[in-house]
Amino acid sequence: MSENQFPTGTLMKGKRGLIMGVANKNSIAWGIAQQLAAQGAEIAFSYQGQELERRVRPLVESLGGEPFMVAADVTDEASMDACFKALEDKWGTIDFLVHAIAFAGKDELVGSFTENTTREGWRRAMEISAFSFVDAGKRASHMMPNGGAMITLTYLGSERVVPSYNVMGVAKAALEASMRYMARDLGPAGIRVNALSAGPMRTLAMAGISGGKALMRTGREWSMMKEDTKMEGVAGAALYLLSDIGQSCTAETLHVDAGFHAVGVPSMEGDD
Ligand code: NAP
Repeated sequence: MSENQFPTGTLMKGKRGLIMGVANKNSIAWGIAQQLAAQGAEIAFSYQGQELERRVRPLVESLGGEPFMVAADVTDEASMDACFKALEDKWGTIDFLVHAIAFAGKDELVGSFTENTTREGWRRAMEISAFSFVDAGKRASHMMPNGGAMITLTYLGSERVVPSYNVMGVAKAALEASMRYMARDLGPAGIRVNALSAGPMRTLAMAGISGGKALMRTGREWSMMKEDTKMEGVAGAALYLLSDIGQSCTAETLHVDAGFHAVGVPSMEGDD
């Protein structure tokens, strides 16, 4: 089903958790799911609507075992209540949460941030891409009496200006700040909260950004390693953050982007 290679092992054996944000086989959440499953995790998947259920079910079935899928639209309180109730009814407690959800309108992911950001677009991007992690994290923490770990997916557009990323960059900045406050609140309960900042990857969400292809190309050409961000690297970092080998790591934004985030000037004339 996938060309990606995920090392097998037992780092997640005995751990159960929820993954939010698998839309198709290219989703970052799906790469992470495959890696966690290869290390023994039991996984519940949330999907936004019936159409997604139809697309995601075959993927989930390919992992083997009894598929556990629950509907969850993060903008709908009743839907979130039902999702976490289903988790609680089935498992009682969980050990991890993966939040890989973001949305901004197409009209806002292009041109001038100042001109194109509307009140409604700002509200929607913030709610779906940042508040949803606070909400899901709160609910998940209530099911983690023995501690646990949560991650969210972010991108460098939160820290630096990236063409077309616009309101999503602002939402990612709010997401990363939220992650740190959540880590402070949940730390005493043994719950670690981190963000994984991935380089550009070819997914549906990326296709929604004007100039997404150029972003991919620049991400590769200007990166220190001169290569695309690999799904295996992102999924491996998620495994580190969510398993016990990541202990003591919390409130961190971990970049997995072939070094792109640390580049000041990509190259000088005649340098390469
Ligand atoms: P993706 O496959 O399109 O995943 C995005 C997911 O968000 C989809 O499953 C989507 O469901 C879901 N979503 C949107 N609105 C929702 C809502 N109201 N309720 C529930 N789910 C909702 O794209 P992806 O690139 O893997 O994105 C996953 C995360 O990684 C996002 O936070 C993204 O910003 C982040 N990220 C992506 C990149 C990249 O280059 N691709 C880089 C760094 C970080 P629908 O399809 O139904 O809308």
